Amino acid sequence: MKNGLSRLHWKPILGAFDAVASVLFPAPCRVCREPLTTASRVPVCAACLDSLRRIAPPVCGACGRPFPPVMAAAAALVCHGCLRRIYRFDLARSFAYYDEKMVRLLTLLKYEPAAPLAAWFAARLEEVVRAEPKLGEVDWIVPVPLDRTRSRERGYNQAELIARPLARRLNRPVSTDLLRRLHPRPPKLKLSRRERWETVRGAFEAPASARVDRSCILLVDDVLTSGATLDACARALRSAGAAAVFAVTVARVLPRWLPVVPGTTL
Ligand SMILES: [Zn+2]
Ligand SMILES: [Zn+2]
Repeated sequence: MKNGLSRLHWKPILGAFDAVASVLFPAPCRVCREPLTTASRVPVCAACLDSLRRIAPPVCGACGRPFPPVMAAAAALVCHGCLRRIYRFDLARSFAYYDEKMVRLLTLLKYEPAAPLAAWFAARLEEVVRAEPKLGEVDWIVPVPLDRTRSRERGYNQAELIARPLARRLNRPVSTDLLRRLHPRPPKLKLSRRERWETVRGAFEAPASARVDRSCILLVDDVLTSGATLDACARALRSAGAAAVFAVTVARVLPRWLPVVPGTTL
């Protein structure tokens, strides 16, 4: 009894000690290592978050591919790929460029389920959706799934970590049953454009039990590189009867025309 009681008493004392320790010895920003000075639970400083390069118009009206600012005067812009109808998703948008800082932030989410950071990304994606209201008029929000082995190893899916708080903000339901990944991404780190398309072809399916028919779906993922993954997801959902498939990603690969800023590009 005595031991039980003392354990109960220790818990709040240790909690208070943690709180004091975090003030006396603040954890450094996980990107730049400067001490964190705000009470935010996001493990990254405000300066690093503010320095992420947001994607702004002009962008392709369909897939969201950014165009150089000089093209802002053009009325309706559609990229080469969308003119050739290479994607089966209807509309895609992203929050910011996949530069060096963004790579580090998204890598954090791959190795630990940093929920406050995922929630911060969800708030940014809500802004992206509000700017393109069609993206929010959906029946389901679906995180791009991991294959079962990867999912078991990691214990969570970083796309789902972002999709859940986004769904709460948009007041839409999340489903992880409408789409599954059959083949894992190959372990090779850098894939050529052709390899990206080949490795995801047929990698996703909507299970027979998935009630996708005539529904509108918003896919959520961390990065859009070639668009091949989102395209493969959209194909699976479309062949199961989805009426429309939209997508939002936190980051998007850097376009070739973007000026190089020292220390911020790959
Ligand atoms: Zn920082
Ligand atoms: Zn496009």
